[in-house]
Amino acid sequence: MKKTLFVFVITLNVLLGQNFEVDKSRIIDLFENLKKFGVNENEGNDRVAYSDFDIQARQYISKKLEQINAEVYTDFAGNLIAIYNPNNSSLNPISFGSHIDAVPNGGHYDGPVGVISAIEVLQTAHYKKINFSHPLELIIFSNEEGGVFGSRALAGKINNETLEVVTVSGYTNREGVNRLGGNSNRIFEEKRKPGDIHAFLEIHIEQGNNLYSKNIDIGIVEGIVGLKWWNVKIEGYSNHAGTTPMNQRKDAMIAAAKFILMVNETVNSFDGTQVGTVGRISAEPGVPNVIPGIVNLSLELRDLSSEKISMIYNKILENTGLIEKETKTSFSFSPIDATGDPALMDQRLINIIKEVSNSFKYSSRTMPSGAGHDAQNMALIAPTAMIFTPSKDGVSHSPKEFTNFDMIKKATDVLLNAIIRIDKIELKN
Ligand SMILES: [Zn+2]
Repeated sequence: MKKTLFVFVITLNVLLGQNFEVDKSRIIDLFENLKKFGVNENEGNDRVAYSDFDIQARQYISKKLEQINAEVYTDFAGNLIAIYNPNNSSLNPISFGSHIDAVPNGGHYDGPVGVISAIEVLQTAHYKKINFSHPLELIIFSNEEGGVFGSRALAGKINNETLEVVTVSGYTNREGVNRLGGNSNRIFEEKRKPGDIHAFLEIHIEQGNNLYSKNIDIGIVEGIVGLKWWNVKIEGYSNHAGTTPMNQRKDAMIAAAKFILMVNETVNSFDGTQVGTVGRISAEPGVPNVIPGIVNLSLELRDLSSEKISMIYNKILENTGLIEKETKTSFSFSPIDATGDPALMDQRLINIIKEVSNSFKYSSRTMPSGAGHDAQNMALIAPTAMIFTPSKDGVSHSPKEFTNFDMIKKATDVLLNAIIRIDKIELKN
């Protein structure tokens, strides 16, 4: 009798499109336990990728997931995968997850929030016996902080050079994935094809102060910005700082000063959320009594649209021409590492996340992500979306990172119910 009623209530929930809620106390429990693997004397987190803490945390999580009958394994790329598929469905999975590795002396939220919420989605699915047509796949990506390694492997964006990169743990990626239980010799087999995954979702802390400062519960990411870098070399003429009159100088440092301000003004002159930064500068010869003949700078531009990045870059080039004339110097630009293409999130998933947030009466806003995430690689192979939770004062990569449990619970509610809706729709492009 009781069981019949239980099944009836669940069916009614689904039919009425009612929401399931996750359990905040289980989220707190996961958080406190996971924190033990890496917490240091500053309350920071030393669980860097491939470290002993990384391995121990994975063992703890694996046990948790086995308790709810998920099939847990480590793939060749060192990603920890849990398949929850009580109906033995042969459909493509709905995948979700994030990372548990941190930067040295990092925090306990950047990454873990996405993993804890993903585990709680599976726990709620299990304990409330929510029925899914698709298998659910939880992914904990390997070495996110050292170049989104695990998700790049799934998207087929790594090569032998990537494997030899030495990470902050002191191990190369090759050694590291083997430590986690992967297999570096077969890593390229992990590449998934577009269409292999029904949809991918990731919860992450915002790492900015848009949500927290405005007291907004849920950030819905429209896309992860692309980024372009250039080396900028300014050539003037080195001469004696005491004997060269002011009107006869070709001072590369003066040109640099004008350039830095001009970049800021040019980026600000366009509508939108684009950002531009000159983050590095060095002058030659770099002594107090010589007019600098050469200055080397960096230029970085980020936006959701590659076209917009090009447009702003062209405007910067045009304005640079004026500075060259004015200062009698010459500028040259050479691109470096121009691989960070923008990744747009799937509009259908964005709409679902918005609907679910509204149905819970959680406030939300759409926004770009200025930081890179595993979701940007997953977007190459699957319809992808990201949910942001507020970071206190916008802090991240620091022991001071903080997101309160109510906010994590709200984001997890949205993730679970978005997955329930995504389970019922076709997502072929
Ligand atoms: Zn992260």
